[in-house]
Amino acid sequence: MLESAARLNLILASISVGAREGRCEPMLLSIVIPVYNEAGNLRLTLQALQSELCKVGCDTEIVFVNDGSTDESQGILSGLAAADSTIKVLNFSRNFGHQAAITAGLDFASGDAVVIMDADLQDPPEILADMVKLYQQGFDVVSAQRVSREGEGLFKRLTASAFYWIMQRAVDRRIVPEVGDFRLLSRAAVLALRRFREQHRFMRGLVAWLGLKEAILPFRRPPRAAGETKYTLFKMIRLAWTAVASFSALPLRLSIAAGVALSLAGFGYFLFALYAALVLGRVVPGWTSLVFLQCLFSGVTLLALGLIGDYVARIYEEIKNRPLYVVSEILNAGQPTPAAVGAVVLTPRQAELPTDEVRRRISAKNNR
Ligand code: UDP
Ligand code: MG
Repeated sequence: MLESAARLNLILASISVGAREGRCEPMLLSIVIPVYNEAGNLRLTLQALQSELCKVGCDTEIVFVNDGSTDESQGILSGLAAADSTIKVLNFSRNFGHQAAITAGLDFASGDAVVIMDADLQDPPEILADMVKLYQQGFDVVSAQRVSREGEGLFKRLTASAFYWIMQRAVDRRIVPEVGDFRLLSRAAVLALRRFREQHRFMRGLVAWLGLKEAILPFRRPPRAAGETKYTLFKMIRLAWTAVASFSALPLRLSIAAGVALSLAGFGYFLFALYAALVLGRVVPGWTSLVFLQCLFSGVTLLALGLIGDYVARIYEEIKNRPLYVVSEILNAGQPTPAAVGAVVLTPRQAELPTDEVRRRISAKNNR
């Protein structure tokens, strides 16, 4: 890993945009960690994290969001929460996905600044202190950028490069390559992000969309401490498609462009057929070309229909306005923030409990 001071200088020198006025230290730093079957990593991650958090020099809390793990993660997290009241745990009723878990963490984090990081030590806690320094200089978003990926094969690297290439072109030019969800967000950024309650979520796109002052902090990404990646190729493709479809109608427009190009080609071919029949006087049976054209055009038509269908399905899902996640248990956390609309929290809400006044009246009536 680069020397921390040198790295910070490098970044500060490379940041072209001016940040807002400097801030004093965050009074409370929240760390949000989504967890899906990470039993082998949780204690290691917590240990590494806590030894770095001591150096940051402010109050801290950790919010673990257990995204419906089926291994021992839930039991381990309950034990950790019982031993330390600064560890909040949210247990989802089932697996709602990484992006929903991050959303819940942001909803329940109380910090002046919030860092999102993975549970597998691929996001090294050693750079937290640098992130906080940049936050103190006034940046609302401090994004960690992977300058190398250790333990990842050529295929993963190639698909990751393709992913960022597409994201920059189809989602938002402000999306920085090799920046994942490991980032620090100021309270202002968190409050802004809580306003987004869309079903198909791509947090990186939402952060870029906000357009807040962003600093980039390079780091070397180590391999997973234990276990396997939960992002299979299928999940990566699904996330990429969610990102593209929720930020851009470009694919629909591309299908229009393809339709126009193919129709023109078809019209050209029709003119040629006419010329061959009327001028050259020889009509070739042309079975092969007919079949070819038939296949091509029906393929393109079906593709365009499928694209439209996908967008319609997404509109349908948004209109249903279902909750983004269901929390079945909360440990060490108070009531959910009022911002956690679009979520189900199966614990008594303060608002639903009888107020002191109502309680007094009931007990006075009973004693009469
Ligand atoms: N994760 C999650 N829900 C999921 C998949 C993953 O909460 O459905 C968590 C996982 O436990 C980890 C983080 O999201 O803390 C990133 O996942 P992973 O490390 O598998 O992704 P990769 O780093 O390989 O891209
Ligand atoms: Mg990982």
